[in-house]
Amino acid sequence: MNLEDQISSVFDLQKKHKLIQKNTDATYRIQKLKLFKKNMIDHRIEIEQALQSDFKKADLETDLTEILPVISMINHYQKKLKSWMKPKKVRGGIAFIGTKKYISYEAKGNCLVISPWNYPFQLAVYPVLTAFAAGNTIILKPSEFTPATNRIIKKLFELTFEPREVTVIEGAVEASSLLLEKPFDHIFFTGSTPVGKIIMEKASKHLASVALELGGKSPVIIDPNYDLAKAAKNIVWGKLVNSGQTCVAPDYVMLEERQKEKFIKLCKDSIKEFYPTIENNSDYAAIINQKNFDRLKGLTQEAISSGAKLEVGGNFFENGKIEPTILTDLSDDMQIMQEEIFGPILPVLTKKSYKEMKKYINQNDNPLVTYVYSFDEGFIQNIRSGTHSGGFSINESLLHVASPTLPFGGAGKSGIGRYHGHYGFEEMSNIRAVLHRKFEAGTKFLYPPYKEGTKSIIKKIIDKFNSFL
Ligand code: NAD
Repeated sequence: MNLEDQISSVFDLQKKHKLIQKNTDATYRIQKLKLFKKNMIDHRIEIEQALQSDFKKADLETDLTEILPVISMINHYQKKLKSWMKPKKVRGGIAFIGTKKYISYEAKGNCLVISPWNYPFQLAVYPVLTAFAAGNTIILKPSEFTPATNRIIKKLFELTFEPREVTVIEGAVEASSLLLEKPFDHIFFTGSTPVGKIIMEKASKHLASVALELGGKSPVIIDPNYDLAKAAKNIVWGKLVNSGQTCVAPDYVMLEERQKEKFIKLCKDSIKEFYPTIENNSDYAAIINQKNFDRLKGLTQEAISSGAKLEVGGNFFENGKIEPTILTDLSDDMQIMQEEIFGPILPVLTKKSYKEMKKYINQNDNPLVTYVYSFDEGFIQNIRSGTHSGGFSINESLLHVASPTLPFGGAGKSGIGRYHGHYGFEEMSNIRAVLHRKFEAGTKFLYPPYKEGTKSIIKKIIDKFNSFL
């Protein structure tokens, strides 16, 4: 069967099944999530090997950033899903006497999940399981750059679900394009902003709802009174997990000029402490492919040849690893300050004041997260209220993403929609408004032809509402 026929056949199979899937109960869905968890833990070594093979990711980082978030999500859903699925009664309004009103959380229907390569296990599996928990059928199209991870994901889904519930379709842009021709009810996309725009355009053909989990340049602001050593260590850690190939990695740092030298020295020390060697260090991931390696090398070289100063690093090894690199003396017109870096290169900008830092953030697209390192509540709230971003994290990088009780998503160009925990359940649900008339009450008097008596009652109601002003 060619790819087009394979896609049509799976889509039709899931379309036929969507009402059955929608009406599955919490017990069934939780039992499947638990089965997935068991299968995943049983195959933990295979998952680690797959990520090693795709981009030399350290086993411990695979456990921490790919497997554990999925376990934590499933555990949370095990506890909460039943109560989330219950219809929620709502009250109120004289016009509704004789009715019962409630919100029914129902599946959206047939979902398409398209995922990226950078956390290829977690970012494929997490949205699929969320959509499943909300009663949807799902086709997953993972990134073409992580074939080994895709194989293990496919195996785990086949061990857990029926194809009419969850199916994996592999391939590159051609596969995405063929899938996007189908009238899905919901599309959950994680990837770059330019591709996000294509997804939204294609979804508009069938008016599928979309969640777009995109990227951007996440800034870091350091308060001059904060402990610089703590900040440097935490920023270096957040930047170098997955070798900087993290959507919420600190993209660049802003601080006052007088702190620059000390900060760079502290970053250098932390890099040395975390990764004494780079090229053959199994704790340090490689760049996913030659294209991205060349892109990062190009960004660095262009910045240096345009006047940026290389403070730390700058070595690009043949095995795909890049030495943690710090640049200063940057200008806005350099490409590295215009696109998401998505690699272990950290520009450090100096600004005169926090006002200038806020202004700099606001003159660019909304980031996925803004990081602030400060002990001063006033400083923190000033930055928060004066900027926009999907998340806001104080004195800690990356961790906010791991919480199943915080929503995760972007704002503006960094994304549309939210997931994780209850927010994911709502994102994947059709939140249906239900009104049930239980007995006749006075609404009949509203039917035409409109009489003088009706008009005067409506006028009285408006006058009464006006008195609330
Ligand atoms: P990408 O946009 O290139 O690809 C993502 C997916 O879209 C892949 O499955 C790919 O095959 C598919 N795709 C690529 N071009 C397409 C097209 N023209 N039409 C349809 N589908 C297409 O992203 P990537 O390089 O895999 O991932 C890196 C980007 O993802 C970064 O920008 C990063 O910030 C972002 N990201 C965001 C989050 C988040 O949760 N917000 C998480 C991880 C990564």
